[in-house]
Amino acid sequence: MIEAIGLTKRYGSTVAVNDLSFTVRPGRVTGFLGPNGAGKSTTMRMVLGLDRPTAGRVLIDGTPYNKIKNPLRSVGALLDAKWVHPNRSARTHLLWMARSNGIPVRRVDEVLDEVGLTKVARKRAGGFSLGMSQRLGIASALLGDPKVLLFDEPVNGLDPEGILWIRRFMQGLAAQGRTVLVSSHLLSEMALTAEDLVVIGRGELIAQCSTAEFIDRSAKAAVLVRAPEWQRFATLLRDKGFAVAEGAEGVLTVEGATGAEIGEVAAGNGVVLHELSPQRASLEEAFMQLTGDSVEYQTGSAEKGV
Ligand code: ADP
Repeated sequence: MIEAIGLTKRYGSTVAVNDLSFTVRPGRVTGFLGPNGAGKSTTMRMVLGLDRPTAGRVLIDGTPYNKIKNPLRSVGALLDAKWVHPNRSARTHLLWMARSNGIPVRRVDEVLDEVGLTKVARKRAGGFSLGMSQRLGIASALLGDPKVLLFDEPVNGLDPEGILWIRRFMQGLAAQGRTVLVSSHLLSEMALTAEDLVVIGRGELIAQCSTAEFIDRSAKAAVLVRAPEWQRFATLLRDKGFAVAEGAEGVLTVEGATGAEIGEVAAGNGVVLHELSPQRASLEEAFMQLTGDSVEYQTGSAEKGV
């Protein structure tokens, strides 16, 4: 479990993180979501004791990072995948980490296997693709078999295959009962990866809830309906007091009714439905509605193809 309590960080006159409190529970992937510059990395650095809070504190399973006796065995982190010495092999790098942290050598081969790097373990890490470097970074984070894992923008720059692999891997780690906090500005990615969200904007908490709840809060109150007898159905729905807009090819957009209410009107009148789908706001739209801030948050080209 990770608990942030009134966490604040100022860099001169810049307030990077402002009175931020949240809890990250074990056994699920929690997305740490916010636009670039929101304060995600700063928060993660404070969780890991790499930056001192100006005020507030953050606890890992009840203890601040710098009071943990065996940090590598308690917390693993992937912050920047490219920090490995380029001439070292993946295995040498992990061996060096294991030896300097009192971790048994057999663990090196275990984690290499877990992340699928066994075959290239003796090649120089400098020649690794971004995806392979990420895997090596994850292997390093897992070396001490920690209960708490932090990933800072792990899918940035990866191809779809790499993104899918990381997503599944993180979900697997959570399923083992670990606490997994993963930051991203890719809201659509988080919708697929994380069960819970901690959403921040300009260093402040915007929401802490399940991903489904976050989307529900800003769900559009509209249901899309397709029916062969759409004209008759539109009249029936209007008779019930619902607002119905008729689109191209008989697609109806119904406002003021739930999917269940519409389904019951159909069944009660023998209307065949070909589609009945409540319209949900995307996470991007949900974010903008909650922050009311479309200037700071802009989906960049990195969003494409995800
Ligand atoms: P994110 O990870 O969400 O993109 P960051 O935590 O990197 O956000 O940054 C939050 C804010 O703090 C930004 O305005 C950034 O410019 C500022 N900031 C981060 N690190 C430093 C630093 N070392 N010195 C000064 N300002 C910083």
